Amino acid sequence: TEPSAAYRRILLKLSGEALLGGASYGISPEVLDVLAAELREAHGLGVEMGLVIGGGNIFRGVSGAARGMDRAAADQMGMLATVMNALALQDALRRHGVPCRVLSAVQVTGVVEPFVRARALRHLEKGRVVLFAGGTGNPFFTTDTAAALRALEIGADVLFKATRVDGIYDRDPERDPSARRFDRLSYDEVLDRGLRVMDAAAVALAREAALPVVVFNMLQPGNIRRAVQGEVIGTLVEG
Ligand code: UDP
Repeated sequence: TEPSAAYRRILLKLSGEALLGGASYGISPEVLDVLAAELREAHGLGVEMGLVIGGGNIFRGVSGAARGMDRAAADQMGMLATVMNALALQDALRRHGVPCRVLSAVQVTGVVEPFVRARALRHLEKGRVVLFAGGTGNPFFTTDTAAALRALEIGADVLFKATRVDGIYDRDPERDPSARRFDRLSYDEVLDRGLRVMDAAAVALAREAALPVVVFNMLQPGNIRRAVQGEVIGTLVEG
């Protein structure tokens, strides 16, 4: 049988780090190309797809604040970093023949369209990938929270968080090799155990709306498609 999507509409959160490749700063053209190909494959299954991209590969507000910047000003830089990533990803998707629109929570007139929910819904219905840039548009928030928020606004069936690790662990698996991975967790378990795979505001939003969250490794080729097909990969957070 033909592979098909297990969901009608999804929201996929990609961290800015996803674009780094081997570098410690910026956007790797090679990684962008591979990612666009993976997204094309997953989108081709017939799912409506919203994307939220982070900005950590370029700038994080907390880092600026740690070096003496005003936190809100630093966060504004972080939000603009997500706009840069969105433009890069949009360009890569276009080159791969995937119709795509960037809608931004921060206004950069002449560069990206402002986020308007009705417009996002219309693009999705027409089969266009919608890239939500600018996070929530507010300082002191993260793109994880933006992802949960946009997932709820577009009525996504699931929130996928694609990261560098293959799920949620009880300890940091990149530092502690004895860390144990969870197949399934409740929202409360994530919050009570202080598992820092997503920020608490994002988990709380998901819990309130009973939005299932799947955390999986995006560096594994084919995983975005597998997730969209409903294969059990990574860690499922629900209930
Ligand atoms: N940011 C913000 N408000 C938001 C989303 C993001 O101020 O709603 C800023 C914040 O400074 C953050 C930066 O944008 O550090 C990049 O986002 P994030 O750290 O979530 O990116 P990721 O870790 O996913 O690469």
